[in-house]
Amino acid sequence: MGIRDRVAALLAEMPREPQYATQGATLFVDLERRETQSAYAPLAVARALLGGRGANMYYLYRLLDESKTPLDAEVPLIFGSGPLTGLVPSAARGNCTSWSPDSGVLMDCNAGDYFPSFLRMNGFDHIVLYGRAPSWSLIVIREGRVAFEDAGAYVGMDNIDLRDAIARDLGGVWRRNMSMVSITRAGENLVLTSGIMGGPKAIYARGGPGAKMGSLQLKAIVTLSPTRELPSAQPYKPYNRHIAQKLLGTSVVKNALSVVGTPFLYKPSRILGAMGTKNNQETTWTDALDAQHIDQYRPGMEGCFRCPVNCRPLNDLKTGESDRYGTGDGPEYVTLGKFGPNLGIDSVEAVIRLNNICNDLGLDTASMGSALAWAFELYQRGIITSADTGGLALTWGDALLVEQLLFMTSGREGLGTCSPTAPARWNGATIRSKR
Ligand code: SF4
Repeated sequence: MGIRDRVAALLAEMPREPQYATQGATLFVDLERRETQSAYAPLAVARALLGGRGANMYYLYRLLDESKTPLDAEVPLIFGSGPLTGLVPSAARGNCTSWSPDSGVLMDCNAGDYFPSFLRMNGFDHIVLYGRAPSWSLIVIREGRVAFEDAGAYVGMDNIDLRDAIARDLGGVWRRNMSMVSITRAGENLVLTSGIMGGPKAIYARGGPGAKMGSLQLKAIVTLSPTRELPSAQPYKPYNRHIAQKLLGTSVVKNALSVVGTPFLYKPSRILGAMGTKNNQETTWTDALDAQHIDQYRPGMEGCFRCPVNCRPLNDLKTGESDRYGTGDGPEYVTLGKFGPNLGIDSVEAVIRLNNICNDLGLDTASMGSALAWAFELYQRGIITSADTGGLALTWGDALLVEQLLFMTSGREGLGTCSPTAPARWNGATIRSKR
């Protein structure tokens, strides 16, 4: 049974009306035929699995054909928000689910920013995508209406340029009335460490979601509509103030998350000897990456939709406006660990810059940092040599080399072409080289 028959069988069982006050529809998108259908998750599914990740799993279970491979266009890519997303403070994150082209098992990623909440404000809790678009495409959801647009002009763009171009061309303002999930060149090139960007830094990461979206030739999904209060949220507003006060009153939020973000975890991990240093060969690292050393480069904090915590540290290396990677968003603790001790880098400025590059290139810092560290250890042990790396000496702590390798990976060039499961071409997808 093909994906369209599976979707038809599923739709036949799904209600056409909301099953509870705050429920949004599930949108089924056939990218190849540019057709959409929608219905609502059955109440039994909502009761047993809630929404978001749980309902995503239900849809994947019902639609997956295990005789296919993860990047096959018949294997769906599913976005999902939860029943409280956009309604309750700090409930701003959403999930992205499929069959992982990287691990070969379940792909289930989570990210915040504004897309999960704005998707619900457009009346949708889930989007189920399948079929390979005939050409690079953009889905634009305006006040609940879905349109397919040509994305040819955006192909080859990474996150910074794409966000500028989409805001200019569609006339929206990020965080006010517009949100997006999108892929970069790395996703177009089916790089297995590529994610789906959900904001300047927010990323659906792990398992190769960028490659999965790239295999469908879908560059982005944009929501564009006025931010409004969900009518069903009104009765809960007094409780929301109480929840926000409770959140802000907890010591970890008040003293750490709202002030420096997740990098506060670096110091206790270091003291406990719980770091993954040089591909986990050692367990601790320098105090030069403790959160207080980032203070001078942190102009402020940001957060997801209506979250009172604001746990995202912004950064400014004060290298001037012409430095594309001198300002950005992050790093989170994971990035600090993967691009600090894991690669033998002890400069906080270098880690911040690499963080900013990964955000632009759409690379998952955990997967990318781990893959690089593995290659560095192979080189350290002589299992690979400069004959395998194109003459590059993979020396721990060489931040400039790491920067070069990020661009090579994004463009699938040289050593960056190496990939454990994805071929250089898949279903006829075009591999785009570095500009
Ligand atoms: S700003 Fe931080 S705490 Fe708030 S929803 Fe986003 S990730 Fe969670």
